Amino acid sequence: MRAFTYERARSPLAAAAAVAGKRGARFIAGGTNLLDLMKLEIETPTHLVDVQDIGLDRIEPTDGGGLRIGTLVTNTALAADPRVRRDYGVLTRAIVAGASGQLRNKATVGGNLLQRTRCPYFYDTNQACNKRKPGSGCAAIGGVNRLLGVIGTSDACIATNPGDMAVALRLLDASVETVDGQGKTRTMPIAEFHRLPGDTPHVETALQPGELITAVTLPRPLGGRHLYHKVRDRASYAFAIVSVAAVIQPDGSGRAAFGGVAPRPWRVEAAEAAMRDGAAAVAAQVFAGARPTHENAFKVPLAERTLAGVMAEARAENRA
Ligand SMILES: Cc1cc2nc3c(=O)[nH]c(=O)nc-3n(C[C@H](O)[C@H](O)[C@H](O)COP(=O)(O)OP(=O)(O)OC[C@H]3O[C@@H](n4cnc5c(N)ncnc54)[C@H](O)[C@@H]3O)c2cc1C
Ligand code: SF4
Repeated sequence: MRAFTYERARSPLAAAAAVAGKRGARFIAGGTNLLDLMKLEIETPTHLVDVQDIGLDRIEPTDGGGLRIGTLVTNTALAADPRVRRDYGVLTRAIVAGASGQLRNKATVGGNLLQRTRCPYFYDTNQACNKRKPGSGCAAIGGVNRLLGVIGTSDACIATNPGDMAVALRLLDASVETVDGQGKTRTMPIAEFHRLPGDTPHVETALQPGELITAVTLPRPLGGRHLYHKVRDRASYAFAIVSVAAVIQPDGSGRAAFGGVAPRPWRVEAAEAAMRDGAAAVAAQVFAGARPTHENAFKVPLAERTLAGVMAEARAENRA
């Protein structure tokens, strides 16, 4: 690990100004992703600004009937919140499908949204990786890529976004609130937060340097059955090969978003008009234009079958 300096910020604006004002500075929240990457020298910040003392650790109702979740709310606290469990069950289910209890106790909302890919070549500094070292190539294309992306990828990068919580937030049409080093705030739909790789896979989000996530807001509840199915290589403590977050209404209409398949949570709103026609009809639209590799083509039918399983479970729950 390389040497770095450290400070604890006392307010959101102080944190944002500290990072914006110093080249090589980074925020640190729970540290569960950033510290691992620093130990491997994949990330080499020269200065860390700890945001754990800036407040922003509460979940509050919004005027619009939704919830505003401070960026420092831990994954454990968010999943356990009675309002989230009652009205946004898909979010609770997605969070508890991720990582381990100890990690979720430290992991924060903002840090979770910004966790880096789990592409094995990204972690091996002897390998070419455009995301880690822009312009160096991509060892995963033509390499071992069974777990990588099938849609939304590019000729420069085929990595997936590994998160679970983000898939549920995309399904729920959450928004991300931020503040920059000058105190300017903005709110963006989560659909615009994660970027597709294109020619610049190292640029993963719409955040500007030094811009701090302050909160995530949820619109008013959708009702319906909330489900999250995660398919992985072992029963727990593993990232998704494919995941499906869904909210399904008693008449079979609803929404679906997919994880483990793309560089960002993957949702095609237009396909949801076909929810009552079954999983095949939805998946045909969601995965139109997919570019799987020879090793991961199985993900497309797996995603369809996972959605079919979610739909069947919702039907069974509605009958019960
Ligand atoms: C063994 C292991 C298994 C895991 N399994 C899963 C899994 O199955 N599913 C899953 O979804 N996740 C999984 N994770 C990832 C875990 O959820 C993330 O590490 C965690 O959510 C990151 O949150 P953090 O607060 O610790 O972030 P940090 O490590 O502190 O920060 C991560 C990044 O976010 C930035 N950042 C943090 N807060 C802010 C902010 N407010 N504004 C702007 N930038 C910010 C930091 O600068 C850094 O770049 C796993 C992690 C490990 C180590
Ligand atoms: S898929 Fe992306 S993260 Fe993986 S090696 Fe290629 S450029 Fe790097």
